[in-house]
Amino acid sequence: MKIIELTTFLETLAPLSLQEDYDNSGLIVGEPDATITAAMISLDCTEAVIDEAIAKGCNFVISHHPIVFKGLKKFNKKNYVERAVMKAIKFDIALYAIHTNLDHVLEGVNAKICAKLGIKQYRILSPRKNTLKKLVTFCPIQQADQVRAAILQAGAGSIGNYSDCSFSTPGTGTFKASENANPFVGERGELHREDELRIEIIYPEFLERNILIALLQAHPYEEVAYDLYPLSNSYQQAGAGMIGTLDKPINEMEFLRFVKGTLNAKVIRHTALRGKNVQRVAVCGGTGSFLLPAAIAAGADVFVTADFKYHEFFDAEGKIVISDVGHFETEQFTQELLFENIQKKFPNFAIHLTSIDTNPIKYIF
Ligand SMILES: [Zn+2]
Repeated sequence: MKIIELTTFLETLAPLSLQEDYDNSGLIVGEPDATITAAMISLDCTEAVIDEAIAKGCNFVISHHPIVFKGLKKFNKKNYVERAVMKAIKFDIALYAIHTNLDHVLEGVNAKICAKLGIKQYRILSPRKNTLKKLVTFCPIQQADQVRAAILQAGAGSIGNYSDCSFSTPGTGTFKASENANPFVGERGELHREDELRIEIIYPEFLERNILIALLQAHPYEEVAYDLYPLSNSYQQAGAGMIGTLDKPINEMEFLRFVKGTLNAKVIRHTALRGKNVQRVAVCGGTGSFLLPAAIAAGADVFVTADFKYHEFFDAEGKIVISDVGHFETEQFTQELLFENIQKKFPNFAIHLTSIDTNPIKYIF
């Protein structure tokens, strides 16, 4: 398989445009047309992981965290980033990162944590803004069904748990074809009136290219009239964090112990218990303190996340139990998530999970 085939699939799972501005997800080292022998999956891309990939005959490393975040100006093996990148280039190992884009999709990092913790009916805690757009097109009534179907087929028209959402209103289109035109209806040089439907459908911006291709292919007119509008509605299917419910309310301490065991955490740092049972749970794999207000607003009893600083713990104010389980601990199942998705799509493709514990944080007791 070529690199481009695998990365195209990964970017359907987690479109690159859903990553944060500071992020560097995507193909970091490697040529899209090169052939992959086998792939290695890891949470972090370290030199040790690249060594393991070489030893196991893998020339493609997929990591959650990108090894390169900022521009590299020198290649002197002076730090772990330069060493990893230089080794990858020297041994022809491609490096790919699928980071905040995988955090932000509905069936991404946080859905995996929810599955592990038995959290059901989950939804995005902080839905993404500036992602939704609306396509409006005008189509002869006869062909309207085929045009609408093609746009929906390309992934537009999804609102919450509903698909195929659209709205159509009848009206009259007018146009005059020039001498150089080849009109589907009407005569050249004459003003034509046609009964048309105005079809409106929303879509996330990352699908725009495919949706326009589908529209132009399905629409009968030589010159297709359409408008693209940015919307300020938030996009429910992508964003940061997740909120959901447990099947049954459970004692707080029992829940924290269950989280500790399930996420193999050595320790959990948490705020004062509230003497209430836990049923609504917010989660965010990795750094999640920025989502505390959203977790409280969503009525979460506990927020399972990582990387809270001392002063940020005070912000719980008895409204929620903050549970800082660790960055690696909350995100470790991302490896499994990638493995399962790739294996399902490409059953005969060789993938390995790293055997290296890349967590840079160690604990003493
Ligand atoms: Zn992370």
